[in-house]
Amino acid sequence: AAKARGRGCFARFEPWMEDRERERAALESDLRSAIREGQFALHFQPLVKIDSGEVAGFEALVRWDHPTLGVVMPGEFIPIAEDTGLIVPLGEWILRNAIMQAATWREGLRVAINLSPIQLRSPRLMSQLVTAIAHTGIDPGRIELEITENVLMQESEANVALLHKLRELGVRISLDDFGTGYSSLNYLRSFPFDKIKIDKCFVADLEQREDCQAIIRAVTSLAGTLGMDTVAEGVERKEQLDWLRQAGCTEVQGYYISYPFNIEELSDGRPLDGEREHWRSAIRH
Ligand code: C2E
Ligand code: MG
Ligand code: MG
Ligand code: MG
Repeated sequence: AAKARGRGCFARFEPWMEDRERERAALESDLRSAIREGQFALHFQPLVKIDSGEVAGFEALVRWDHPTLGVVMPGEFIPIAEDTGLIVPLGEWILRNAIMQAATWREGLRVAINLSPIQLRSPRLMSQLVTAIAHTGIDPGRIELEITENVLMQESEANVALLHKLRELGVRISLDDFGTGYSSLNYLRSFPFDKIKIDKCFVADLEQREDCQAIIRAVTSLAGTLGMDTVAEGVERKEQLDWLRQAGCTEVQGYYISYPFNIEELSDGRPLDGEREHWRSAIRH
């Protein structure tokens, strides 16, 4: 979108933009029926404690199994779902299913669920959450709601009040993609988050980048002082993991630990490779 805007403030029309518009319009109309027809699936990616290597929980990541396009990633359809308000019913489906899934896991394992700013604006969010918790009987302390910095940019007072109300249910609140928004440090003062997720852009080439190292060190130390946990996202190499451990990061998440996967593949009876067997025994009682 930034590219489409070019140098000035006015959008310049380009032929490819028409294709994109058409693509988007098609996805938008398909999205309406997709929820009804159950075309969504949740994949889960492990979060691991950096010191012990123990599994702390899993983040739910939604995928759309489109009948003709195949798997569509959230980066493509979440913005459309947000613009159309479809994120509210979709978000409810995600919340309910992620919590139902987590309720089958071993006690203590957490589930992280991404919340869109639009969902936070919905008066239905609180009751959706209360219902899912009551329905499964899950310990609410096992639920981590992930929000991004932009939630605190607009309507920040109302949103901070809402975060406190959510917290009163006993759930935990994480700040996702930390460092990618504006005036990040200020947000740490506005709400006592349980956890900060350091965005993967700082982790990506941290071995070569002293600026990224300095930022991660500063964030982990600040978080420690404020009593917040830190997770590094996008860990793809052992060198990153080792560096993050000495930097005092609490948890890690990334392809080096595991890709997100469909947890139904772990159901009993199916043959599993060593890696999947590892995650299956981690979620077992
Ligand atoms: P996020 O919440 O920051 O999720 C992390 C993203 O990083 C996921 O992409 C994950 O697959 C990817 N990732 C994990 N490990 C690595 C790694 O080692 N390297 C790299 N390069 N990437 C890694 P995904 O699943 O495509 O999701 C993208 C974004 O879409 C999420 O970012 C989140 O903002 C949004 N999203 C995903 N699922 C949901 C959902 O259920 N609800 C809402 N509202 N948003 C969602
Ligand atoms: Mg997230
Ligand atoms: Mg993130
Ligand atoms: Mg991210």
